[in-house]
Amino acid sequence: MADTTKFKVIVVGGGPVGLTAAHALSRAGIDFVVLEHRESVVVDVGASLVLWPSGLRVLAQFGLLERLREIGADLRRTVTLTLDAHKYKDSQASRVVNQNHGTYPVIFHRADVVRLLYESLGDADRARVLAGKQVTDVVVAGDGVEARCADGSVHRGSVVLGADGVHSATRRAMRALAVAAGAPTVNDEQPYLTEYRTMWCTFPRPTDLGTGESIEGHGRDVSVQCLASGERSWLFVYERLAAPTRARAAYSAADVEALAARHADLPVSEHLRLRDVFPTRHAAGMANLEEGIVRHWSWGRVVLAGDACHKFTPNQGLGYNNGVQDVAALVNELHAVLRAGGGAPPPLDALSAAFARYQASRMASLQVDYDNSASFTRMSAWRNWIHHLLDRYILPWIPRFDEFMLTYIMTTTTRNCVVLNFVEGEEPFQGKVPWANAVKPPSIKLNG
Ligand SMILES: Cc1cc2nc3c(=O)[nH]c(=O)nc-3n(C[C@H](O)[C@H](O)[C@H](O)COP(=O)(O)OP(=O)(O)OC[C@H]3O[C@@H](n4cnc5c(N)ncnc54)[C@H](O)[C@@H]3O)c2cc1C
Repeated sequence: MADTTKFKVIVVGGGPVGLTAAHALSRAGIDFVVLEHRESVVVDVGASLVLWPSGLRVLAQFGLLERLREIGADLRRTVTLTLDAHKYKDSQASRVVNQNHGTYPVIFHRADVVRLLYESLGDADRARVLAGKQVTDVVVAGDGVEARCADGSVHRGSVVLGADGVHSATRRAMRALAVAAGAPTVNDEQPYLTEYRTMWCTFPRPTDLGTGESIEGHGRDVSVQCLASGERSWLFVYERLAAPTRARAAYSAADVEALAARHADLPVSEHLRLRDVFPTRHAAGMANLEEGIVRHWSWGRVVLAGDACHKFTPNQGLGYNNGVQDVAALVNELHAVLRAGGGAPPPLDALSAAFARYQASRMASLQVDYDNSASFTRMSAWRNWIHHLLDRYILPWIPRFDEFMLTYIMTTTTRNCVVLNFVEGEEPFQGKVPWANAVKPPSIKLNG
């Protein structure tokens, strides 16, 4: 096995993707540190996370499947209503995901997933996750890189992995390095465009919404989603902005209240309205829904993953799943390049080639999921008359249209999803569709 002790990855961001990277790097035997801006890695921010088979398979390789089953709920049914609660669709299409790939999509409270990722790291790996470290700059230093933090600390490593989300400081630093080097290919300063925003809240599951059921309310320029697990529900109101923007938005509690008041009549189940559940909320928040795929995911010794390099609207729950796929694809490349070098830290050209292969391998399925998410958001919020006509009057009457879409669009990207190709184990899920990249079977141990 390669001696990877001299090679170290500085992961910027201890969110879901940064912590996923910590697990994957640990499995690859690659040294790392995770620098997280917040004072604590496990904080109850954000709403839900739906994990699809592509994400669940990789987390299963970390040995987390049993715990994930305990804290999640299979998503099995979606009822679609007009905004005045007239029901026009009742779908159990997610069963084709189970039939094809061996598991339903599963819904979690986001903080529960982050806690599980953090707490399931071994003691030594958990000690590599440092909170209260806001990375302010990344600089090239000899044959390595330095991440500089607001508290004055400097962390040195071989490469920096930016998993620091939509407003990534790593992405900014990477751009500055490329500009300073006169690179012909430089990313835009603001690579994402926002056309929608969301107000979300979580509250106890309403009695008329079963575990694993969800409600969608569709209307002109506004839509609503409410998803339920055993105890908890998550509600998302999506609202189209007056004009698309690249500016960063910050919303206050007063903004949340105002939006909830404006949309108090939106349905959250067949019998309840937003005004009935909003006062019972555990937490609420509001965010712009940036969209885009960054053109260049790496420069020199800096590489990006997750929301730092692609951002989807969340209606389909595909953002983190793609972040998990990024991590698996990237760590496979790093593991291979380290092994090929027989233990020596790889030279820059070998790293650049590995980063280029990583991005290239991700593009096809990422684009499908991105387009799918963007269309779903616009179809639900009746962006134009064609969306309205299709969503309300045509598609609901085509028998099993949702199942057709899930089979013919999602199945290709799902069957091609990657796993950590150096981790041996049993295949956690088997459906009708064979995996293009199977989990490496356990090696046969010969006695004597
Ligand atoms: C309302 C909503 C619902 C969603 N639902 C789903 C879903 O169901 N399924 C799904 O797959 N995806 C979903 N997503 C998308 C998903 O949340 C993101 O894709 C995912 O969180 C991206 O993870 P990340 O680690 O890349 O970024 P983030 O979650 O943004 O985490 C980045 C981390 O980096 C830290 N950080 C930032 N800057 C610095 C810095 N300078 N130095 C150090 N640390 C820093 C942050 O504090 C944070 O902890 C949803 C998104 C939203 C907005």
